[in-house]
Amino acid sequence: SGRWAKALAILKDLEEKCATPTAKLRQVADAMTVEMHAGLASEGGSKLKMLISYVDNLPCGDEKGLFYALDLGGTNFRVMRVLLGGRESRVVKQEVEEVSIPPHLMVGTSNALFDFIAGALANFVATEDEDLRLPPGRQRELGFTFSFPVRQLSIASGTLIKWTKGFLIEDAVGEDVVGELTKAMERVGLDMRVSALVNDTVGTLAGGRYTNPDVIAAVILGTGTNAAYVERANAIPKWHGLLPKSGEMVINMEWGNFRSSHIPLTEYDQSLDAESLNPGEQIFEKIISGMYLGEIVRRVLCRMAEEAAFFGDTVPPKLKIPFILRTPDMSAMHHDTSSDLKVVGSKLKDILEIPNSSLNVRKIVVKLCDIVATRGARLSAAGILGILKKLGRDTLKDGEQQKSSIALDGGLFEHYTKFRNSMESSLKELLGDAYESVSVMQSNDGSGIGAALLAASHSQNL
Ligand code: ADP
Ligand code: MG
Repeated sequence: SGRWAKALAILKDLEEKCATPTAKLRQVADAMTVEMHAGLASEGGSKLKMLISYVDNLPCGDEKGLFYALDLGGTNFRVMRVLLGGRESRVVKQEVEEVSIPPHLMVGTSNALFDFIAGALANFVATEDEDLRLPPGRQRELGFTFSFPVRQLSIASGTLIKWTKGFLIEDAVGEDVVGELTKAMERVGLDMRVSALVNDTVGTLAGGRYTNPDVIAAVILGTGTNAAYVERANAIPKWHGLLPKSGEMVINMEWGNFRSSHIPLTEYDQSLDAESLNPGEQIFEKIISGMYLGEIVRRVLCRMAEEAAFFGDTVPPKLKIPFILRTPDMSAMHHDTSSDLKVVGSKLKDILEIPNSSLNVRKIVVKLCDIVATRGARLSAAGILGILKKLGRDTLKDGEQQKSSIALDGGLFEHYTKFRNSMESSLKELLGDAYESVSVMQSNDGSGIGAALLAASHSQNL
């Protein structure tokens, strides 16, 4: 019928506009490399902030003692206690607790958010076992993983540049987030010092290097997306400080804010962006990361419902609610292997209140998920190629056994198998023979351990 043809036309149009042939991915990677240079050359020189992390030494394995870590980045935050045993014993003990952030605190005031965090941290500290306790008189130390763009002033301080990923707390912008946390800890009577403030990418890089010396970069694919890597300090023209002894500096790229004319964008992406909390910003993030993939799918389905009566004569009201279709649900539909696509059927029914969907409708929904996830996965592979190119690690060098490992973390990468497979196979496609010198390493909660390790190496108690 005409309706069906119209729905298929919308689908085909989407597929064409989201296409990421190899040549296009190479252009995206090249653009990423160019922007990396520009962001390192001068402050504000690029959409890529290329933030200096003040981490000029990655963990070596000798780190020792009891340290806390706190990871704030998305809808949950994690508190962690790690006992580091040094070169032989490594991570002796690790305890983690996850706390979800009430949504109103994500758009409230700085004090309200940090009081909540400090309170949860204090509760966690109160559960310390006898064997995990510092000698009397020694202050507890914390590695604070804070996954928003921060202009670092030192390893343990930095001002918030902007919020992303659905957070918007205006009075915190421009403030030192360590100062905010420290004041909140004082308010709840918690005696603890922040020894390191790190982005989650930097924490993941540190945690990755601790287990694998070949790790040179880290990528987060979770609620948002970002990357960090190890740069030569003398390749950072905007850095006017002393050159670190190591000759290296970890750079937090803030690649979520990358954009390029080579990135395939659709009208769905444009309207998502325009209606977001941060219009015009985080464009790469908005087509790759977990916060947005399901929402893109919803927008296409909404269009199909409105213009092709895809779900019948009326548009299902639930389909009009932004962010109602979450990426984990999209992932579940995408992975549905049953012959009648019953997972798709039940997601449509349970989430969107669309009963009795036909098999053909369900097949199109799966195809839609595939188009949107594949584009995101392939673009994230292009981003990784951009980093490898910047480092001259995208080709095989004869006579040299240079291995490059990328530490990957985040719920999207961890749980969305088809996304992950597509990202890895795209990287292989892009690297050709050089793929044998590159490996992708999953680093589960590497950023928490990494922050604890960095707190240890910057400890005031040594
Ligand atoms: P954050 O990025 O907030 O620090 P995570 O790394 O745990 O936290 O990532 C959580 C994100 O991962 C979720 O917002 C969601 O988008 C994505 N995610 C979680 N589970 C799945 C899943 N089963 N399939 C697809 N995406 C998932
Ligand atoms: Mg995280």
